[in-house]
Amino acid sequence: MPELVLIVLCIIGAFVLAMRRAPLWMWAAGLAAALLIWQSGMLRGQFGEFAGGTLALLPWAVVAILAALSAPAVRRSVLIRPLYSKIKGILPKVSATEQEALNAGTIGFDAELFSGQPDWDKLRTVPAVTLSEEEKAFLDGPTNELCRMINDWTIRHNEREIPVEIWDFVRKQGFFGMLISKEHEGLGFSPQAMSIIIGRISTRSPDVGNVVIVPNSLGPGELIEKYGTPEQKQHYLPRLAKGLEVPCFSLTGPTSGSDAASMRDVGYVTRGTHEGKEVVGIRLSWEKRYITLGPNATLVGLAFRVFDPENLLGRGEDRGITVALVPADHPGVEIGRRHLPSGTAFPNGPNWGKDVFIPIDWVIGGEKMVGQGWRMLMECLAAGRSITLPAGAAAGAKSLLRNTSAYARIRKQFDLPIGRMEGLEEPLTRMVENAYAIEAARAATASMVSRGEKPSVISALMKYQSTERMRRSVNDAMDLHGGRAICDGPSNYVMAAYQMMPVAITVEGANILTRSLITFAQGALRSHPYLYKEIQACQDPDEEQGLEAFETAFIDHVSFAVSNVFGAFFHNVTFGWFGSVPEKAYGTAQWYRQLWRASRNFAFVADLTVAVLGGGLKTRQKITGRLADALSELYFLSCVLKRYEDDGKPAGDRDIVALCARNGLFRFQEAMRGAVDNFPSLPVRWLMRAVAFPLGAHYKPAPDWLGHRCVALVLAPGEVRDRLTRFIYVSQDANDPTGLLEVAFAKVVAAEAAEKKLDRAVRAGQVRRVHGTDWIGDAARLGIVSDDEARLLREVETLTARVIAVDHFDPAEVRPHYMTPGHNARAVHTAAAE
Ligand SMILES: Cc1cc2nc3c(=O)[nH]c(=O)nc-3n(C[C@H](O)[C@H](O)[C@H](O)COP(=O)(O)OP(=O)(O)OC[C@H]3O[C@@H](n4cnc5c(N)ncnc54)[C@H](O)[C@@H]3O)c2cc1C
Repeated sequence: MPELVLIVLCIIGAFVLAMRRAPLWMWAAGLAAALLIWQSGMLRGQFGEFAGGTLALLPWAVVAILAALSAPAVRRSVLIRPLYSKIKGILPKVSATEQEALNAGTIGFDAELFSGQPDWDKLRTVPAVTLSEEEKAFLDGPTNELCRMINDWTIRHNEREIPVEIWDFVRKQGFFGMLISKEHEGLGFSPQAMSIIIGRISTRSPDVGNVVIVPNSLGPGELIEKYGTPEQKQHYLPRLAKGLEVPCFSLTGPTSGSDAASMRDVGYVTRGTHEGKEVVGIRLSWEKRYITLGPNATLVGLAFRVFDPENLLGRGEDRGITVALVPADHPGVEIGRRHLPSGTAFPNGPNWGKDVFIPIDWVIGGEKMVGQGWRMLMECLAAGRSITLPAGAAAGAKSLLRNTSAYARIRKQFDLPIGRMEGLEEPLTRMVENAYAIEAARAATASMVSRGEKPSVISALMKYQSTERMRRSVNDAMDLHGGRAICDGPSNYVMAAYQMMPVAITVEGANILTRSLITFAQGALRSHPYLYKEIQACQDPDEEQGLEAFETAFIDHVSFAVSNVFGAFFHNVTFGWFGSVPEKAYGTAQWYRQLWRASRNFAFVADLTVAVLGGGLKTRQKITGRLADALSELYFLSCVLKRYEDDGKPAGDRDIVALCARNGLFRFQEAMRGAVDNFPSLPVRWLMRAVAFPLGAHYKPAPDWLGHRCVALVLAPGEVRDRLTRFIYVSQDANDPTGLLEVAFAKVVAAEAAEKKLDRAVRAGQVRRVHGTDWIGDAARLGIVSDDEARLLREVETLTARVIAVDHFDPAEVRPHYMTPGHNARAVHTAAAE
């Protein structure tokens, strides 16, 4: 019996030491104390043979090693120095572009999740959505006016073009300069405000949304604002803010898509003549494609590689990627015709040039910024990915939910609103979850960017997760509408989002690349508490300084890894009951506890994955993709809890939070299981299973009854439905396709009792509901419904007929206007052929 007590005490002691991340000497002392008790007379009776045998020396050898390694001089000479030299020798060199990408962004709450012990206060201190009075006025004024002006069908089909009056309006009202400072005549809005404004516009027309997005992201307004010379700022920013320049940003070429840094577009530093004077400049040749706003651009932001063969800049030959501002009418600049991306209407096309000379001061930031282009792009991309694409995705998910739930309540089959059928409740449940969770993550991330963060890992996961979830919502919306959303026309309010979806998936880092490479494989380096420090130390040219930094990081890393093993195991066998919960987490404590437990598991598996796969991480994309999914679930669920608290914990939202939490934890578990089950090393796989799933996988998806309750919240008007779809444009005009839905939805709900009476009468054969009969009049005459009810039913009948109607056309009307003579497509442009 005493030996059992000792074993239990030893295990408890090991847990305490590991979780408190105790130094080595404490482990040595603890082990020595346990051995002394074990070998003392107290236990001799039971364990005499062992205590007295030669084997007894083994544990003491461990104590001796631990004690010796506690001495800094010994540790350094026998362990750290040889290890440092070995790792330094095998560590793949981080390329210059990778290094710039790594240095570009900031780390934030992602690092808390990687640490396995998230500090909830760090998330809670991110401000809730706040807009200034001016921003609110702009949202309610010019933004709503723009939304009213937009006719999606005219843009997307009739004209395949953004109408002149829309261009004029967005220019005049300053939509192109939302982030440009007031000093430079822009609106000087916060990224949070811009995100909401862009989202609202996108729900009316993704094409107009895109036109507004480009000048406000890479466009190159942001690049000029951040890196431009005073002259560039003074000249271009007011012109961009007022829309006097239409900008585009040209990075992608035929051979350099996802691998943009491999571009063949080149500039040689040389002397040339500009405006009659001989100046130092760059002779450029390039070929770009897919450039949004390219066909209409007056100012081309151009990325290319620079070489300085004559060393005119005095900094060597290969200067690297550079970004310049090239007026579209500059001699030699060729603005191509238009691509037709996914049948949408925003301008997009190729551009190219051969041996075009530009003065060196057209480089953004001037001569000193030659070669700094990649860093500039990465820094601005982190902010862009966090704001613009999630803005469109969140707004899309919300408006699709609002419109689809209204339709599902109005449209009846088998005498039942289709939204009440269980089969349709499933996709509607997903739409509710997506609308809530994407908006939660959008709002938190936009607030982070608004307070100056440039979250690189969070921006990557936001980009791919928000657009993937939106893709699910748009597919669900399509299914729920049946033929009504498939047949295109002016009354189709789903098709624009459906068509634009692949664009959002592909731009600013195509989703597969962003998921499987950028978020975890590169993100782990950034967000891991010690890994990047170790790598930096190994790359330090000063050997002794590097060794010292490596030692500190390595010791911390080992204690972190040990604490993860014990911590994850402990929280798994206790089902998360001891997970850390922030103050006043009434109603959400259980989700915080599970998040803590999940984060512990993630930290353990992620750390081991990085340690074992090392340089092979980038090629094990099925593992890193799943870990990116797991990290994303942790982030989204954290944002869901934050949103619920920021909104004042409304009772009506509690079920939706539970829905998000249960499904999020289940998806987290499945992503982790996938990574563990497919881990390439068998012993590591076993260890991961034993620690992360000691009692199996217990999270289950949200139960059907919870989905049912959440869907009921959106099948009737109310504050929960309004909150779920906040910030989008809601029309109440029955002549607008979505306004018609709103009007009809309210009437259908009001007429529910009368409808039931009528349906019963139809089923009983008292009235016949077929063409050529007045079934409502008949029901009124028979006293089944009152005159008022009959009036309401007639209104509902008319509105419903309009809601379910689909458009039809004369064949001539639907012939593509770009197929007219003289407009035959030229499939391929190659600069070489010119
Ligand atoms: C409508 C539209 C508008 C655009 N606007 C602009 C613009 O304004 N300016 C601009 O410069 N560019 C723009 N782009 C280009 C866009 O950024 C690229 O399309 C994108 O970078 C992907 O390049 P790609 O299409 O050549 O695909 P590819 O690079 O050929 O990729 C094909 C597939 O392979 C995957 N993949 C590639 N490498 C990896 C990897 N290492 N690991 C895992 N998966 C990988 C990708 O995720 C993708 O699924 C636009 C594109 C479109 C379609």
